[in-house]
Amino acid sequence: MRILSLPFPPNRLFCLLGLAVSPLLSLPASAQDWIVLPDRVHPFKSPSTGAPKSDRALAYPRALQEVARIRPTGRDGDETDWLQFAFRGEDLFLPEALVAQQAGDRTGEGRDLPIGGEQVGRDHPLPLDYEPSDLVPIAPRWNYHPGRKNQLRAEAAQMAERMFEDARRDGIELRVVSAHRPERVQRSLYLQKIARAGLDQKVVAKPGQSEHQLGTALDVCGLDPGTVLTASFAETPEGRWVKANGARYGFVRTYADEAAAARPRRLAGGEGGIPEPWHVRYMGARAARIPDRGGEMISSGSGGSQTRRVPKEPGSRKKQRIE
Ligand SMILES: [Zn+2]
Repeated sequence: MRILSLPFPPNRLFCLLGLAVSPLLSLPASAQDWIVLPDRVHPFKSPSTGAPKSDRALAYPRALQEVARIRPTGRDGDETDWLQFAFRGEDLFLPEALVAQQAGDRTGEGRDLPIGGEQVGRDHPLPLDYEPSDLVPIAPRWNYHPGRKNQLRAEAAQMAERMFEDARRDGIELRVVSAHRPERVQRSLYLQKIARAGLDQKVVAKPGQSEHQLGTALDVCGLDPGTVLTASFAETPEGRWVKANGARYGFVRTYADEAAAARPRRLAGGEGGIPEPWHVRYMGARAARIPDRGGEMISSGSGGSQTRRVPKEPGSRKKQRIE
């Protein structure tokens, strides 16, 4: 059984077979387009991976028309929903995991989203081709992988480097595993992941739904390879330092909320729905009001963010999920 050019584990596919379906949601066709993600895929003639396929192949980034989301009844699991759509007079179906909803132009022509105010996630997709204009490389000495180019928006990069320098003074060595990810890279990672792990994988976000596309998010680690991109990072000295001090530099652990991540995928806001204590996002002065800690933010000195003295707000410390 193949959907993409790569085989899926059969257990992931056949759990979807033979289930009745019911209309769940009709979507306005124009507000946000549903885009086919694989390079090439033959849609199904009914919402089952065991159903016959259409002879017509659809290719990225084809937008679907007259889309309705449907969910097989009789299960509560978080397997992928299906999309029903019209294509040249025929009703066809694709698993939702192979399609992504993309925003129209939210920013205006060529404009960067304002730092700290961006919304991105499952319910707030970015425009397909959104890419900030002010990306700069982080100094190579902070890269975990030698030779990899890690970019952030200029203000975020400056504050990240300042954070790393100050951590070093505290005896903490922080490194960057990954930073800005353009849509094409996220799409490639996503397709590889579902090919390996199945349609309901919860680790890699769809293109357009990752904070990494904003150019303000980065994955950090220490020097111990055993804790890189693992839940155990939260309990390392480096993980605790980031939690305690990140907001002073404008960085928030936006995907670290285990309670939210434990909820069903469509309610959790993280990239894929698992807690990621290594993932931080630059929010500027807003950081002090949002995350693990409140406090005073250090000036970036760039003019982009002047020194902002943000008082601690005990009443607003409650964790807030940011997608
Ligand atoms: Zn991340």
